[in-house]
This record gives sequence, structure tokens and C-alpha cells, in this order.
Amino acid sequence: MKRLVLLGGGHAHVHVLQAIAEPPDSALSITLISPVATQVYSGMLPGWIAGHYDLDECGIDLGPLARRARARVVPSSGVLVDPTRREVVCANGEAVPYDVLSIDIGSQAFLGDAVGVEKYATPVRPLERFVLAWEALVGRAQRGEIGSLSVVGGGAAGLEVAFAMEHRLRTLLGADAPHVRVLADTPVVLPDYGDGARSRLLRLAAKRNIGIHPSSRVAEVGAGFVRLRDNIEFASDATFWVAGAAANPLFRESGLRTDERGFLLVNDFLQSVSHPEIFGAGDCATSLDHPRPKAGVFAVRAGPALVTNLRALLAGQPLVAHVTPKRFLALIACGDKRAIGLYGAFTFGGRWVWHWKDRIDRRFLARYRVDEARPA
Ligand SMILES: Cc1cc2nc3c(=O)[nH]c(=O)nc-3n(C[C@H](O)[C@H](O)[C@H](O)COP(=O)(O)OP(=O)(O)OC[C@H]3O[C@@H](n4cnc5c(N)ncnc54)[C@H](O)[C@@H]3O)c2cc1C
Repeated sequence: MKRLVLLGGGHAHVHVLQAIAEPPDSALSITLISPVATQVYSGMLPGWIAGHYDLDECGIDLGPLARRARARVVPSSGVLVDPTRREVVCANGEAVPYDVLSIDIGSQAFLGDAVGVEKYATPVRPLERFVLAWEALVGRAQRGEIGSLSVVGGGAAGLEVAFAMEHRLRTLLGADAPHVRVLADTPVVLPDYGDGARSRLLRLAAKRNIGIHPSSRVAEVGAGFVRLRDNIEFASDATFWVAGAAANPLFRESGLRTDERGFLLVNDFLQSVSHPEIFGAGDCATSLDHPRPKAGVFAVRAGPALVTNLRALLAGQPLVAHVTPKRFLALIACGDKRAIGLYGAFTFGGRWVWHWKDRIDRRFLARYRVDEARPA
């Protein structure tokens, strides 16, 4: 019996769970290690913040997928991989042995060196904690306890979150809605995108009175304030931290080869460059020869290649290279059922873009909803 362990229930692994057991292989035992029973889909999180979705519309239930794959579930986080003993050590103390290990644990929020972030700010990840914090904030805003809030991070995710928050609060509270501002440490927001997309977003932000503050590196977060490095201080009754991705320290601590930021380094077969029996996909991994931004679209695309190569390694067959094109479609929701799209140098926007994104997102989730009443 070969033992395949899936660490994390991210975008690539939901596909693995769905596809690996078809046809079922009685010589393969599968274990999924996941601290969460439902994987919150980040692509729809801004829509949930804005009030367009219920939370249960934005999640993938891992239990039914695992049952269909005949996978055992360990409800815990992996904290260390012991490549010599070929075991994953979990936070609950369990050591899970593997012959082949696949890791899709995503990234953590990059917190940087500002003082008080852990105590006073809410990082966007883990998403489950962020969800609770946003629900609490809406309650406080309705009780009139919030004058303004800050979103730290001027990338696509930070802007989506800020636009969504502004929309929700304005829908609920009208003219009494708190002010929303974005603080970015880069000279412009959306530094990875072209001028076209940026100008569209800046126009929308100005119309909706969302404060956009580039070149504003946060030095300290405290109770009721955010202070920048140049000592400018903003009143901020709540601060959300959406300032990019950091690696889980377990890769370095486990002695696996990583990139300079600590993400698992993989080859074009999605295999660890130091440990070929370990695979990595999604945000947690960096391709040695074809690095890509940390975006869900790459994690999703890795799913089918990951299944092919896990099967191939288990069967002792040759692996297949997986290289994603550099260009990808980015759809940035603007809170009010409008979105901006980017593909290479093309930029477009409007309500139809939001509805298109909504269809893509719903279709993605529908693929992984298991109807347990229906025979496999
Ligand atoms: C607000 C927001 C909006 C975004 N919108 C988009 C978008 O529209 N398009 C896009 O391409 N990207 C988007 N992104 C980026 C996207 O979220 C990530 O790139 C994507 O989630 C990466 O997928 P993943 O499978 O690598 O990891 P994840 O989706 O993060 O899944 C990782 C899973 O592993 C689990 N896990 C974590 N640690 C452990 C551990 N130690 N042991 C076991 N399990 C663990 C987690 O609980 C989680 O279930 C957005 C990000 C944010 C924050």
C-alpha cells in the first residue's frame, strides 16, 4: 500500500481530491491534513465582504471531497515535515507517514516590521479569522463605534478588500458610513499592473471617497491609530493588513530547499528540488525556473498537473512538465458589482466584468461541490 499525504486543502488539492480516486486505487491510501473543514474561496471573499454572497456560497467543503476520494482526514495543521522519517508532524501531535507528500498550504499574511501589527491589526490570513473580524466590525460600525478604518496594502487584494468594505458600509449606513483608506508603501498602488487599470481604480476610489495613500509605509499600529514612518498619524478604529504573502516557516524548519523568501522551491514537475517525493503547488511553492506571482489562478491551474504527476510518481512513470504562461486574466472587483479586468496590456471594466467574474467563480466552486446522495 502506497501512502499519499495531502497537506492543506488549497485550490490545487481540491482538484487532486476530486480526480485522484477516479478510478479508485485499492493500493493507495490517501490522507488529507487540514485545519479547516471548509476552504474559503478568496476570489469570492471581497464579494462576501461587500454583502453579495453568504459565506456558505464562498466555500468548498473538504469533508465530502475527502470521503469521495476515500481519504482519511486529519483535522490539524502540519507544523514540520521530517523528510528522513517521511512523516508530517501535526499541531495535534500526530505524525502522519507518507511515501509521497503533496503540499498546498497557501501563504501567510506578510506582516513586515511595523510595531503593533499582531496586537492591533487584523491580517487577511487566515481567512477564517479575518471573516470573524469583519463581521465584528460591521456590528461596531452599526453601533456608531467606527469613524474610519485602514486597509494596509495597495495590491489587487488590498484594493478589492477596501472597495468591498466601503460598499458594504455605505449600503448599511449611508452618509454615516466610516471613511475607508488604503495605505501602500509603494510609490503607486497596483504596482504590478499597468497605468490603465490604475487610473480606472483611482477614478472609482475618488468618486467613492476612498482615501488612497501611496508611499505610506506604516511604522506602528495602535488602538485607534496608524502611524506612518514619516510620523503622519491617521485615526483608525480598525486596521486590516493585506500587505502581501509570506511563507510558512515549516519549509525552512524542515530543511526543504526554499527560495529567498522561504517558499518551497519546486521544479517544472511541481516537485521539491531537494526532495523529489515531496510536491508543492499554489502560493506555498515557487517554481525555480518559471516563478509566477502568488495568485489563485496559478494554484488552480496546477491542480490537473499535480494529479498527473502524483499518479506518475506513485506508478514509477515519467512525470510531465507544467509551465503556466506568464500572462493571466486578473479580475478586480470594485465592491459595487463592477469589476476591472486586465489581460496583458488590455484593461476593461464595468458591470458586465463583475458578472463574468461571478460566473467564473461560481462555476469553479460548483465543480467541487459533492452531492453525497448521488452515487460516485
Ligand atoms: C482578498 C483576496 C482576494 C483574492 N482574489 C484573488 C483573485 O481574484 N484571483 C487570484 O488569482 N488570486 C486572488 N487572491 C490570491 C489567492 O487567494 C491565493 O493566491 C490563493 O488562495 C492561493 O491558493 P492556494 O491553494 O495556494 O492556498 P489557499 O487557498 O490559501 O489554501 C491553503 C489551504 O491550506 C490550509 N493550511 C494553511 N496552513 C496549513 C498547514 N500548516 N497545514 C495544513 N493546512 C494548512 C489553509 O487553511 C487553506 O485551507 C486573493 C487573495 C486575497 C487575500
